[in-house]
Amino acid sequence: MIAEVIINTTARSLNKTFDYNIPKKLEDFIYIGTKVLVPFGRKKQLEEGYVINIKEKTEYDVKDIAELGDRLELEQIELAKWMAKRYFCNISDCIKLMQTPGTRTKQNKIQDKTINTIYLKKDKEQIEYEIETGNIKSEKQRKVLRFIKDNEGATIPEIEIFTDCSRAIVNTLIKNDYLELVEKKIERNPLINKNIPKTEKYELNKEQKIAYTKIEKAIDENRYEQFLIYGITGSGKTEIYLQLIEKVINNGKSAIMLVPEISLTPQMIERFISRFGKEKIAVLHSKLSIGERHDEWIRIKENKAKIIIGARSAIFAPAKDLGIILIDEEHDSSYKSESTPRYQAKEVASKIALKKHIPLVLGSATPDINTYYQATLEEKPKITLLKLTKRANKAHLPKIQIIDLKQELANGNHSMLSNELYKDIEENIKKKQQTILFLNRRGYSTFIMCRNCGYTVKCKNCNVSMTYHGYENKLKCHYCGAEQKVVKICPECGSDKIRYFGTGTQKLEQEIKKQFPNSTTIRMDIDTVTKKNSHEQILNKFKNENIDILIGTQMVVKGHHFPNVTLVGVIAADSSLNIDDYRANERTFQILTQVAGRAGREKLEGKVIIQTYNPDNFSIRTAQKQNYDEFYKIEVALRKQLKYPPFCDIIVMRFEGTNETEVKTISLQTYTKLKQELQNKCTIFKPMPAPIDKIQNRYRWRIITKGIMDDEINNIFNETLKQIYTLNLKNTKISIDVNPNNMI
Ligand code: ADP
Ligand code: ZN
Ligand code: ZN
Repeated sequence: MIAEVIINTTARSLNKTFDYNIPKKLEDFIYIGTKVLVPFGRKKQLEEGYVINIKEKTEYDVKDIAELGDRLELEQIELAKWMAKRYFCNISDCIKLMQTPGTRTKQNKIQDKTINTIYLKKDKEQIEYEIETGNIKSEKQRKVLRFIKDNEGATIPEIEIFTDCSRAIVNTLIKNDYLELVEKKIERNPLINKNIPKTEKYELNKEQKIAYTKIEKAIDENRYEQFLIYGITGSGKTEIYLQLIEKVINNGKSAIMLVPEISLTPQMIERFISRFGKEKIAVLHSKLSIGERHDEWIRIKENKAKIIIGARSAIFAPAKDLGIILIDEEHDSSYKSESTPRYQAKEVASKIALKKHIPLVLGSATPDINTYYQATLEEKPKITLLKLTKRANKAHLPKIQIIDLKQELANGNHSMLSNELYKDIEENIKKKQQTILFLNRRGYSTFIMCRNCGYTVKCKNCNVSMTYHGYENKLKCHYCGAEQKVVKICPECGSDKIRYFGTGTQKLEQEIKKQFPNSTTIRMDIDTVTKKNSHEQILNKFKNENIDILIGTQMVVKGHHFPNVTLVGVIAADSSLNIDDYRANERTFQILTQVAGRAGREKLEGKVIIQTYNPDNFSIRTAQKQNYDEFYKIEVALRKQLKYPPFCDIIVMRFEGTNETEVKTISLQTYTKLKQELQNKCTIFKPMPAPIDKIQNRYRWRIITKGIMDDEINNIFNETLKQIYTLNLKNTKISIDVNPNNMI
């Protein structure tokens, strides 16, 4: 077999493919996307390249590929193959996740305080679409876009080195609105020079000890077993993780621990460093430059770093002799990838742990309904349940109060704050204690509507209401970024009764400033958290400057500890109940529990006020009581009745393209094929336009299937996909997603 290899070099004249023979011994290891070393020209040293195509023959007289540059283990290749089938994508998409990111290049010491970094300006889906459908004609532009898609925040020199394209290409893409240049302050890693004192482990309490011992047994017996540590915040889950990791390290093995990206705060990492020291730990997160990511990867490969802490994709880190996998906050939706490959990291972790005969430990205060179901099956639970019922440091749970907003309205209070919440904020400001006001954004952004005829301003490309941004006094589309001036006169009926609807964070901030003119506030939402201004910086400011009130969306609920926060107000708990998703109750319960966990974590007593129009809703009631078990019982019964996960998988097949007729025809053809094959095995619904039926001028249709995604059903979908692709689709992209986070 012959491989087409692209040489990794900055020499522009070499930006084409070269054919190489694949020696027999390497045949099993070389796929499209594999990094290889090849002899090149008269150079003594081997050159690095990527295999971009494989074919049967060549017209040239070719040399052999000398070595695999990044020697993926056969196990990894097998995992990639499994993933490609399971998540309906190319093997190379999966291999990419397992390869060492980039190549270490001599990084010039950066003296400046700022650097120019490059980000995508359009969303990933859109870019994928334009690449796949040949909309972007230039191969170099495609290359740069593909690279940025995986490495947002790269610098121009990095792009030049890794893609072998010049900065002119980058500039063209910026000019054409695909990329944007963001000037960034260089944030020195705060942990680099900090002397972190060593801490000793605690003696585990009774419940912790039981949990620890069970997992320890699986480690000792080299046995796969999946555990769920279910315990409220502060019940000592992390302490158990730390001690398990210590045990595994002492056995000479390594450990992977996944946490949601947003929880990878310096405080969290500090806790690990204080126990194990810096040298043994590798941290993988999205803010690392490619060079830094590469270095961490190499430290892992060379077995210098044995403890790997990272977000979702860290599950693919090349850990040597892995001894345990831990997944904290296992209910978090970030463990499911929403772009190709659309994998669920928990599933991949379980596959790896099974193969390596090691335990997989999940932890949460509000387990995923699916996980808890598997852990409480009466016959042969697939997951071993370990409960922690007490707070390890004896801190108190906050008092939670529910306020009925209907009642407030009846009493003539039309403001966003109930009387109770108003009084408590006032008092908190006096006491110099801090308050967090939480507003769940989804479905609650501000839009404009004509009260006379009901006209709303919608984005022409995307068919969704445009959102009012008070600060700039503009309407913006949250899907494609289109902007438009605010209308004062209704274009439909000419009336001037145009009003703003919904409750945004900006509006809340204005109201707070009016009601508490002497207070200090800080806001955190998608407008204030930008590529320049991180989530981390805003939270640090809130804490360090003792700002009175933090106003924010779900972003505020994770990560940091705020010792001085004693009051948390949820402005409208209903917003997450009204989302078009079968997980609405689960999300509401999780969010409320997490928000409540922000109040009074240390010595000061905390209070939480939940405002709602549905005070009797069970997810709100059970969140008030902090009773997950009660919530679970009701929710799981509903799921069973309505046939939702865990009783069924929701398989969403999406068709997107700029040609509406083609999109529609293809989805109907697919439906006919699927229906024949799936007949009695699944419930399959007719193709329909998606709830948002147009995004950036791409028409969107979908087919929803309810069934259990076992091997048989998986094969049927893969086969159908293969057949449909033979139809030579010109501009329709198809994807399949199982239990996606977003149903839009
Ligand atoms: P979780 O991960 O469940 O939120 P942590 O492990 O962070 O809980 O524990 C909460 C607090 O209790 C931490 O400050 C931790 O140091 C402390 N802690 C944990 N286990 C013990 C123990 N066995 N004895 C005393 N303090 C403990
Ligand atoms: Zn009107
Ligand atoms: Zn739009």
